[in-house]
Amino acid sequence: MLIAQTRQRLYINSLDYSRTQLKKWRQQVFYCPVCHEQVTLKIGTTIQPHFAHLAHSKCTVTTEGETAEHLAGKALLGEFCRLWQVNFEYEVYLPTIKQRPDVLASTDTRHVAIEFQCSPLSIERLRERTSGYRRIGYEVVWILGQRYQRQHWTASNHAFLQYSRQWGWYQWQLDVSQHKLWLLHHIVHYGYPQQVGYQRCSVEQIKSLYKTQHQQLTPTKLLAEAQQLYRCLVQSAPELLSLQQSCYLAGHHLAGAPLCCHQASTLPINQQASILLAVRLLLFCEKQGCVTAAQLDQFCWTYATAFYQLPLVNEHSWQLQWCRQILQQWQCQDVLRLQGAVLHYHKAKWYPDYFSKQKAIKK
Ligand SMILES: [Zn+2]
Repeated sequence: MLIAQTRQRLYINSLDYSRTQLKKWRQQVFYCPVCHEQVTLKIGTTIQPHFAHLAHSKCTVTTEGETAEHLAGKALLGEFCRLWQVNFEYEVYLPTIKQRPDVLASTDTRHVAIEFQCSPLSIERLRERTSGYRRIGYEVVWILGQRYQRQHWTASNHAFLQYSRQWGWYQWQLDVSQHKLWLLHHIVHYGYPQQVGYQRCSVEQIKSLYKTQHQQLTPTKLLAEAQQLYRCLVQSAPELLSLQQSCYLAGHHLAGAPLCCHQASTLPINQQASILLAVRLLLFCEKQGCVTAAQLDQFCWTYATAFYQLPLVNEHSWQLQWCRQILQQWQCQDVLRLQGAVLHYHKAKWYPDYFSKQKAIKK
């Protein structure tokens, strides 16, 4: 942590002093402002000078082995606030919820807790800490560090997804070494195997942020996806087995799944490629004959585990949203027809095998 108290209860922020000044205080005793245990002043050569609890401390806000990235990131976020003339404080302890955001930015009417997350955090803890802030009327912004800035997105990356009308699905990332705060916006899933796509702009460019044209599903991309699905089926990929069985039971073959199940891109909320869940949804519509709101709800509950946990947004409503988006497209493609208030299954062209599907795409 950056801040500690002296024996006289004075607050000392290590960012406010030079290394030489701090070195004179090496023998002095400092205390944690939250648990009042003794803490040590650490002055390394490369890492930002900071205070650390002693080993086996039971402090509720202790950040075990705070990394150079986390300390430098906190300092950088403060610099940004100063630059934007936003009032802020480092490491303010909020006793009602027993939490201490890295940076707290405030105006007369708004409080925004800024958390720079560098270490692993369970989805449960993320949910708890987020709802803690919301309970006292604070907004919270999660900014992700290096460990989350990777090519392959795991469930923990997805857990930090947020949604806004303006930015679509988005996420913040801080690159401490480059002094850059990035907004990843209009995040989508596409293809099989599933990939994550997004646009990125630095915080300085946010005002001129725009959304690029919706990517079309070209015949080439469609063919590639169908081919990849076929290859994985031939190799008996475990993730396809139960779906392939459901297709069999309905008299179909997964490799011949209708073209309407392939999407250019979808909401970034499915654990598996969207083609697989789209096939499930289509089988469901076919079997039911019609889809009422209650049935759709049922579908979402049944396949709840197919979706990522998204503690920062209302999860179930997004699952429904995903289904509705697909159903709407199928309505345009005459797979479904609206009669009264109910969608009725009309028709979808299943191919007997991959090769006849391939021929149809190439035509
Ligand atoms: Zn403490």
